[in-house]
Amino acid sequence: MIRKVRLYTPGPTPLLPAAQFAMAAADMHHRTPEFKALYTKVLAQLKVFVGTKNDVLLLSSSGTGAMEASVSNLTSPGDKVLVLTAGKFGERWTGLAKAFGCDPDVLTAPYGQTFDLAQVKAALKPEHKIVFMQSTETSTAVRHDVEAVAKIIKESGSQALLVVDGITGLGTTHFDVDGWGIDVLIGGSQKAVMIPPGLAYMSVSEKAWAAMETSKNPRYYFDLRKERKNAVKGESAYTPAVALVAGLGAALDYIAGQAGGDLEKGRIALVNNAIVNAAATRAGLVSLGFTLFAPTAPAAAATAVAVPEGMDSGTVVKALKSRFSLVTANGQGEMQGKIFRVAHLGYFDYLDTVAFLAAAEHIAKDTLGLPVEFGQAVAAAQRVFAAQAASS
Ligand SMILES: *Cc1c(COP(=O)(O)O)cnc(C)c1O
Repeated sequence: MIRKVRLYTPGPTPLLPAAQFAMAAADMHHRTPEFKALYTKVLAQLKVFVGTKNDVLLLSSSGTGAMEASVSNLTSPGDKVLVLTAGKFGERWTGLAKAFGCDPDVLTAPYGQTFDLAQVKAALKPEHKIVFMQSTETSTAVRHDVEAVAKIIKESGSQALLVVDGITGLGTTHFDVDGWGIDVLIGGSQKAVMIPPGLAYMSVSEKAWAAMETSKNPRYYFDLRKERKNAVKGESAYTPAVALVAGLGAALDYIAGQAGGDLEKGRIALVNNAIVNAAATRAGLVSLGFTLFAPTAPAAAATAVAVPEGMDSGTVVKALKSRFSLVTANGQGEMQGKIFRVAHLGYFDYLDTVAFLAAAEHIAKDTLGLPVEFGQAVAAAQRVFAAQAASS
């Protein structure tokens, strides 16, 4: 039997063929007019994709590089900051803040849940210079309410900057960056923008640029002010990941092409695509008897699924891989063995969701011994898809 390899992991995600062709053809020098034109075009597209009038910068690093840049560029040793954490990526903010000598207060929500907004309000103190959070916590597949947190900051009269890791939020969540007041919003190339790992992008508000004038932590490769100066000329400070930039341009063209060439509408359609596929996946898995790990605030980027007590989620991940070459992600850290995660962000369509659920039916029946009627998860997903199609 032929078994195609299918990635359903929340980064890296499946690659867009048009982006792969663009990457293969990108033998360009980065100080040429050709590359400058490409870089300028991609930065302009990214502003539309992020949905902001703020500057958007592109860094040649994985997403964590942009997380580190936002800490090193915006803070000084001894700064009080507030970290909102509910999983492995939230914990990364705490680690980064400590690495740069900040003094983080940490508000924690249990794995699989989002924050209690009253607790956020109570935790925010006038001395906090920055609030760090995720928009979706990929390790638990939880969506956090960035709009509500932004509102709490605004209404408290706090001067704190809001720095959001939107690495799996961008392309799966609707944001109003400027309206809500998100000072830094970070994305990564291996997530919803359908290209390999290696690029991070971030929007930076005027308020954040002003804060950089007085911040004292060391920075060199990730010096955002230097990147901003170069970006104006269509360049990056150092040799960028040229091929990835070409791939990103092709992917953003594709996303625009899904809405007649209008990238803003294409971005909205991409987000809605993830939302519908996530809802269909949840319905299918629940129909099989699985328990959702994050039922109260499920992300559209990925779905985290708990396996029945006494079973190991690694068994499901392995069975999907060995029988169908279908790659899902196990839980991270303490969640390993307890949950598995299946992604919907980027280049996934409805039929990918149906294929996953059909495979999940086989695994639920044969590997987990659940009472499965073939077609039941697929049918549950089809009902979600049909209802959405009827209402739009
Ligand atoms: C993927 C991801 C990251 C970035 O990880 P890198 O491995 O550095 O690209 C950060 N935050 C979230 C929420 C993610 O999903």
